[in-house]
Amino acid sequence: MKNIDPTPTRCAIYARISDDKRGEGLGVERQKDSCHVLAASNGWEVALVEVDNSISAYSGKPRPAYMRMMDAIRNHEIDAVIVWNLDRLYRRMKDLEEYIDLVEDTGVLTHTVMAGAFDLNTAMGRAMARTSIAFATLEVDNSKDRVLSAKLQAAKAGKPSGGNRGYGYEQNGMVIIESEAVIVREVIDRFVRGESWQTIATDLNSRAVPTAKGNKWCAANVRNVAIRPRNIAIRVHNNDEYPAQWPPVISLDTWEDLQLALKRGQAINGKRSYSNKHLLKGFVHCGRCGCRMHIVNAQQRDGSYSPAFGCRKRDYRGDEVGCGRMKRRKVPLEDFIADCIMYRLDSPELGVMLEDVESNTPALKKLLRDHEMQARRLRDVLECYATGELTLDEYKTAKVHAQSRLDTLGREIDARSAKTTVAKIPAGQSVREAWDNADMPWRRQLVDTVIEKIHVDPRVPGKKTPLYKKKWQFDPDLIRIEWKV
Ligand SMILES: [Zn+2]
Repeated sequence: MKNIDPTPTRCAIYARISDDKRGEGLGVERQKDSCHVLAASNGWEVALVEVDNSISAYSGKPRPAYMRMMDAIRNHEIDAVIVWNLDRLYRRMKDLEEYIDLVEDTGVLTHTVMAGAFDLNTAMGRAMARTSIAFATLEVDNSKDRVLSAKLQAAKAGKPSGGNRGYGYEQNGMVIIESEAVIVREVIDRFVRGESWQTIATDLNSRAVPTAKGNKWCAANVRNVAIRPRNIAIRVHNNDEYPAQWPPVISLDTWEDLQLALKRGQAINGKRSYSNKHLLKGFVHCGRCGCRMHIVNAQQRDGSYSPAFGCRKRDYRGDEVGCGRMKRRKVPLEDFIADCIMYRLDSPELGVMLEDVESNTPALKKLLRDHEMQARRLRDVLECYATGELTLDEYKTAKVHAQSRLDTLGREIDARSAKTTVAKIPAGQSVREAWDNADMPWRRQLVDTVIEKIHVDPRVPGKKTPLYKKKWQFDPDLIRIEWKV
């Protein structure tokens, strides 16, 4: 292939360092030096030298120097390209075809130090280039396969996957850092006892406990660290699980408790658990018609708006549901209810409740297991109907039975896990201090622990609304609380 017209004088030298480690010592300097030698022996003038550092032509990442050289070819600023080997120019067919198109348009020559000249203007030259790229691609694929199978081998052998350090373990993934393992256990224990991921994250941050990367915790971080199978020495690879070689952080019993607690989220009944924005949403009822009151925007005497609990006349479908005649401002109501709860809990009832909680955890576990079993039964029933083992009537009866048992269990779980909230008031803190430090889910759980319903009664005609706490026109006498305990 040396029958190239020797007239072109302006050439571009292109060098690229690549990620693949073939041990050929293809340093950019060596590539460039060899290309300069070739240019000199051809009697060519080097008009352009372009180098892409650490960019593999195979990855498809942009190669700025390569793009500049292509522009120079397009603009007829150079007549030939010199590279160490064709795989410096491209490793993907797509790139080669683009290059060939350009060569056909411009007549640019391609010389390599390793494999001589390629005249891509001829069918033979193009065929040789394509063959060489096919081999280069094959080699990359092979090395990919080697990497993948090495990863699988490592997983099967129960070795860590590498990458970022897992919290609770040293960088090698094999040795427990006890000070962090303690935190992992604490997090799981607290979640199993009914605290939210968010509450736990907030607490860790307030104690200045950092994540593996030294950052602050968020609910998702805490959850990820708690639920990863690594904690019971299981290595996960492509959804398959393998026994790992590193020591576990928690026992299998604790792991099982955690799985059940994770299901509790789905088990807790009623809409109350879903709102985290408003302390009393779902608890407040209209004293005139008995309807549940919703959060509305109410206009005040001075013309401004503030959130309030309001009785709705119609629901979102337009059906008549309530009297629509009651409104009460949200902030003073919440303030008043919080005071009532503090007062209520500063009482013998709290002691009784806390005693109950002592024996609560095993009972909660049993309830969660029952719930899980019942949920499975419900799925089985559906399956039997789907496969024709049950008639529609039998299915309906079985479903109603299983569902009502499931609902009952859900309510019991709800009540019990709420009680543990109160038990988690840190030693040395009063209920008021715990309340002031707590986040909204915790406060709502506490409300749910002690209050069944709150009734808001209509104003008494002629009676002047008193000033509550010197701040609000609000009459505490019109609030009736149905206590659970
Ligand atoms: Zn009403």
